[in-house]
Amino acid sequence: MKLSTLLISSALLGLSSMASAQTTADQQKAMTPDGVLAYLMAGNKRFAENKLTPKNVPERIAQTSKGQFPKAVILSCLDSRVPVEKVFDQGIGDIFVGRVAGNVENVDQLGSMEFATKLAGSKVVMVLGHTACGAVKGACDGAKMGNLTALLSKIEPAVKAVDGYKPEERNSKNIEFVNKVVNQNVHQTVADIRKRSEILAQLEKEGKIKIVGGVYDLKTGKVTLLDTK
Ligand SMILES: [Zn+2]
Repeated sequence: MKLSTLLISSALLGLSSMASAQTTADQQKAMTPDGVLAYLMAGNKRFAENKLTPKNVPERIAQTSKGQFPKAVILSCLDSRVPVEKVFDQGIGDIFVGRVAGNVENVDQLGSMEFATKLAGSKVVMVLGHTACGAVKGACDGAKMGNLTALLSKIEPAVKAVDGYKPEERNSKNIEFVNKVVNQNVHQTVADIRKRSEILAQLEKEGKIKIVGGVYDLKTGKVTLLDTK
C-alpha cells in the first residue's frame, strides 16, 4: 500500500467516528487539508450510495450552540438540487456553505471564506459547480434580466474560454458544451479566489488550507474533483 493511501486511510479512520458528533476544536486543529478533503469525499460516497449517517438533530443543536469548528467552506450554486450539507453527509456545525447562482466569487464570498479559514479554522475551500447549471446555461445564451445580467456576466469569460464548438453549438441546448463551461467556470472561480484574496492565497502557500474545485453530477449524486492546482 502506498504511503499516501495509508495516510488517507488513517485520516478516514480517525475521522469516521466524528460523523455522528460535532467536530471539536482539537479535532479541527489536528486535521490536515488532505484529510478534510478525503473526509468530504467519503461523505459524498455515502450520500451517493444512500448511506447517510443518522444525525441526532436536537443533540447537535445543543452541542453547536456553544461554538463551531467547521472543517471546510464550500461555495456552491443556488440550485435546489445540490443540498450541500447532505451531498457531503455533513450535519449542523460541520461545514460553512456560501451560495450564489453559478458559484461565482465576489467580495462578500471572499470575505466569508477568509473568515471561515483564517478566523474559524477551516482547512478546505471548495468551489462546487454542478452539471446542467441554469446560471451557466443563461450565460451560454447571453440571457439578460434585471440584476441577473451582472451575475451572468461573471460567467461569460468561462463561456468564451471553451473552444472547439461551432457558433450554432454554443448554447444551452448543447449539454456537452454547457457542462464544459461548468468545469471552466469552477476553474475560473478557483483562480479568481487565489488572485483576489491575499489571505487565502497565503494560507494555501503555507499549506494551512487547500483551495479546490469540484463538480456535482445531478444524475448520479457524485462529486468529481477537478485538477485546479
Ligand atoms: Zn447552478
